This record gives sequence, C-alpha cells and structure tokens, in this order.
Amino acid sequence: MDIHEYQAKELLSGFGVPVPRGGVAYSAEQAVYRASEVGGTRWVVKAQIHSGARGKAGGVKLCTTDADVRQAAKDLLGKTLVTVQTGAEGLPVHRLLVEQALPIARELYVGLVLDRKRERIVVVAHPHGGMEIEEIAQREPAAILREEVEPAVGMQGFQARELAFGLGLEPPQVSQAVTAILGAYRAFRELDATMVEINPLVVTQDGHVLALDVKMSFDDNAMFRRPNVAELRDYAQEDPREAEAAEHGLNYVALDGDIGCIINGAGLAMATMDMIKHAGGEPANFLDIGGGASPDRVAAAFRLVLSDKKVRAILVNVFAGINRCDWVAQGVIQAVREVHVPVPLVVRLAGTNVTEGRRILADSGLPILTADTLAEAAARVVAARDRAGAGAGVA
Ligand code: GDP
Ligand code: MN
Repeated sequence: MDIHEYQAKELLSGFGVPVPRGGVAYSAEQAVYRASEVGGTRWVVKAQIHSGARGKAGGVKLCTTDADVRQAAKDLLGKTLVTVQTGAEGLPVHRLLVEQALPIARELYVGLVLDRKRERIVVVAHPHGGMEIEEIAQREPAAILREEVEPAVGMQGFQARELAFGLGLEPPQVSQAVTAILGAYRAFRELDATMVEINPLVVTQDGHVLALDVKMSFDDNAMFRRPNVAELRDYAQEDPREAEAAEHGLNYVALDGDIGCIINGAGLAMATMDMIKHAGGEPANFLDIGGGASPDRVAAAFRLVLSDKKVRAILVNVFAGINRCDWVAQGVIQAVREVHVPVPLVVRLAGTNVTEGRRILADSGLPILTADTLAEAAARVVAARDRAGAGAGVA
C-alpha cells in the first residue's frame, strides 16, 4: 500500500524527522489559506499522487504570491498527471501539499528498503539526490553508500554517522542527518513499511537538514495491525476495479487481454492464465475468488470481470476442495441470472461433487459451455472468443 507525500511527512515527523512547514489542500482557496498559515513569501504547491517524478511532469510549482498559489492550485487540481512512473493513463490530482519553499544548498538521497535475499533492511544513500538520481546512480555507482541493519539490534548510531559522513556533510549537519536517518528507520520498523525514500534530503543555505520529499510504501499484510496507516489509503489513486475487488474479498489484477478469468486459488489462477496463453488467448485479468466462494461472491466476481469492456469471453475454473462443485454451479447460475453476461461463458469444474455440479449446469437451460480438463477449457474459451461477434453470449 502506498500513501501520499504529505501523509508520509506527517508520519516521519512523528519520529523526529524534520520536514518543511506545510499543509494539505483540496481547493484553490484552501491552498491560499495554507500558504498564509505557513507564512513567508515563497511556497511550493505540490500535486499529491502516488508517483514520483512529479517535478519533471509539472506537478511541483514554485510560487511567490498568493495569486501564484491560487493559479498553481487551479492548474493542478482535477488534472490527470502523467509521469514516467504512472504509465500513459496518469493519476488524478485531488489533493495538494502547500509548503514553505526552502533555499536549497544541497540535495541528497536516502532510501530504506527491504533486501529480501539478505533478510535485512538496507539503508542506501547518495550525495547527489533530486530529480536525476536514477541517471546519477548509474553514472556514479561507486558513490552509493549502503548500511545493512542487523535485525536483532536495529540500526545503530554509528551506521547513521557513517552515512552522514559519506554524504560529505559538515559536522553541524551530521547530527541533524543522523536524527533524520534514525527516525526514518524507526518509522520503517514500527509502521511495517516496505520502503521509505527521502529524495531529496536537503541541506538549506542556512544549514538545516530536512526531508523535502518523502515516499512510503507499506506491507498490505500488516495493515490489520496498523489502523492509523491503513486509513491513509486513497482509493482514488488505485485501479477502481482492484479497489472494488478488495471490498468483496476478491484478489483481482487487471491485465491487457480479452478473456475474463474467475478462478479459485492463486496457483490455479496462474496455471489457468498460462493455459489460456498456450491456447492462443490473452487473459483480461487475474482473479482469485478464494476457497469458500459463495454465490454472492461469484456474482461480484462476474460484475467485476464484466466491468472491463475488453472482455469477450469468460472462463470459470473451480477446483472444489473446501468448496463443493454443486454449490459453485448454483452460484454460477445465480450469478448469470442476476448479472447480465453478454459474452460466451465456459465453466470447468473439478473436485468434490463434480458430477452433481455438471448436472446442475446442464439442467439450467443456460448456454454455458463446459469442459472436463483445464486444457479443454482454455481451448474452448479461446475458440468461443474467436467466434463471438457482437452480442453473442449468455442471455
Ligand atoms: P518529485 O519530482 O515527485 O520527486 O518531487 P520533489 O518533491 O522531489 O520535487 C522535485 C524538485 O523540486 C526537487 O528535487 C527540488 O529541486 C524542487 N523543489 C521542491 N521543493 C522545493 C523547495 O522548497 N525549494 C526549492 N528551491 N526547490 C524545491
Ligand atoms: Mn522527489
């Protein structure tokens, strides 16, 4: 799970990491009000989207008057910002961060990530942070500083000092950078983050060290015990279908193909997608409906798959272990009666009570294609998609 910059700054600030004065705004009026609260004569108005590289996409605007702030806010709010990280669709801007603009002397990079192979949190730093960090890190890989944290003892002061000296900071800035780095580490650990990136960590012309831009991601599986973080989730920044799936306890990932998949179990879903490709098709989605899929859940799955207008055929593949094929068949029939399915539907059932399940499908009178094996099901759904002109399908 990702959160916005202003939220990440609020969290880090709670762990003693210094951040610029500022506040969130949802409208141009509020942005001007925030600027007056912050005070001073220079501000930055920053688009809040779950992406970096906003600066190069016009999402970070430097302002010197109230009118500038108002105009910057009007230009950004409601807009879809496309950055090199968002893909062509971009992300919608509904919130802004209005901050005091700082006179910057140096921009540094500090990032904390989980190194899964080493089973440790690794803190990386680079003396040249900011918008060109990727290219600079490639050009000067030797300048990348790394500290691995021993999990049993946590990050030590000397490790933060190594990094601060490695960044070429002067003694008065070293202690500030150490506070910032150790604070970011504690936030990472105590909030179940998977990534904390401060880029840039700046030294101002008057010698202060602050986190000018922060990105944080969290472990979805730990959010049940971090309600304060979980509530920061912004569904407007996520694929609406994936968000709806999460609400129904379905595990959905949108893909580019045209064959909708409704499957129980992540492993079977992966195998089914492979078989569809093998048969010459392209899956429109990954969808795991889970073990004990009730008719309601199956109906929700149909609605979700059909909300993708690219879908030209659907394959339901259920292996009933915990479940029973007759229940699944009833669920499919109920769902098809409830949700209009305008495309061909192939159902393959296997496992407990499979004979009864197939009989229920056959007796339903609905034009449902069936298959015994996974290979057969994949071939059949690809053929059905190829045959399907507009309007052919389950009534
Ligand atoms: P990103 O492009 O999404 O990573 O957004 P950042 O928040 O990192 O901003 C991009 C760049 O804008 C920074 O690297 C700075 O060079 C510049 N910038 C942002 N805030 C300020 C500020 O308060 N003062 C000055 N002088 N530059 C800023
Ligand atoms: Mn940045």
